[in-house]
Amino acid sequence: MKTALVCGAGGFIGSHLVKRLKRDGFWVRGVDLKYPEFSETAADDFAIVDLRDQTLCRSVIDRRFDEVYQLAADMGGAGFIFTGENDADIMHNSATINLNVLDACAKRNIKRVFYSSSACMYPEENQLDPNAPVTREDSAYPANPDSEYGWEKLFSERLYLTYNRNYGMECRVARYHNIFGPEGTWTGGREKAPAALCRKVAEADFGGEIEMWGDGEQTRSFLYIDECVEGTVRLTRSETFAGPVNIGSEEMVTINQLAEMIMTIADKDLSIRHIPGPLGVRGRNSHNDLIREKLGWAPSESLMEGLTKTYPWIAGNVERLRQRNSL
Ligand code: NAD
Repeated sequence: MKTALVCGAGGFIGSHLVKRLKRDGFWVRGVDLKYPEFSETAADDFAIVDLRDQTLCRSVIDRRFDEVYQLAADMGGAGFIFTGENDADIMHNSATINLNVLDACAKRNIKRVFYSSSACMYPEENQLDPNAPVTREDSAYPANPDSEYGWEKLFSERLYLTYNRNYGMECRVARYHNIFGPEGTWTGGREKAPAALCRKVAEADFGGEIEMWGDGEQTRSFLYIDECVEGTVRLTRSETFAGPVNIGSEEMVTINQLAEMIMTIADKDLSIRHIPGPLGVRGRNSHNDLIREKLGWAPSESLMEGLTKTYPWIAGNVERLRQRNSL
């Protein structure tokens, strides 16, 4: 039986990835600081471990796993990444995890390690025009990410590729672009735009209003979780291609359009009040030529389809919270 380790298995993408690996027939160990928040883990073994601790990290990487997925990171949406208040933790915690995991994998002679980088590592100046952001993989340098989160991702991408070069490993690096879906963080300050807007729309009274950070004309693309997991395993199992490669959607929308789509799904006509808030770059979209060329595959599901599966899950949580608070 093949074995896999998922670091960050208590998080959003990690918990979905564990389910996928179980469907693929793997024995799976999950590692995280916490269990998944919204459902039981599907992992065969789940270790609550702080991967910043080198000894503990080595203790869970105790065999030659066929596949290791390193998704653990100190991260969140714009309200966490772009305020500056969490920068030291973001850089120190995530870099330490990556250093420890990779070193432990090398010592066990593990070959195949997947690392989740982020579109946040692309240069800020290539993302000022909301209508024509540039995120081709080869546009990464000269580097100038707009956040320390992006700088740490860039450092770690390079770190993983050095182990390929110097230690004969076969690390695979993806740059995720805004992943969303059910069982993702939807409240508390670390949620991303699709989840935050789904929550605000679900909470609003009919004919009411929702608040949105900025003028809503900034552009983004959003990728549904199942396609993210599909791209992740396809890249990890590629015999020839290490990346870095974008895993994202090419369907770019403004945040105002995103809100309108969610209102359509909810069947609520709400007005939008624009307020100051942390924003990130002006425009971002995935560029999928490389993934198509190298993996013969690219995400294809529409944003509307993904939101249609996500909104009811968040609206259900909002309703449960409302009922609990009214008791
Ligand atoms: P998440 O926050 O839900 O999951 C990350 C998990 O890492 C959390 O469960 C957290 O508890 C765990 N973790 C943090 N510090 C740890 C530590 N010291 N030891 C052990 N576990 C620790 O995030 P996610 O959305 O599932 O993202 C997974 C990965 O993908 C992250 O590396 C993230 O930077 C990257 N990424 C995500 C997106 C996205 O849109 N979700 C976009 C780009 C990149």
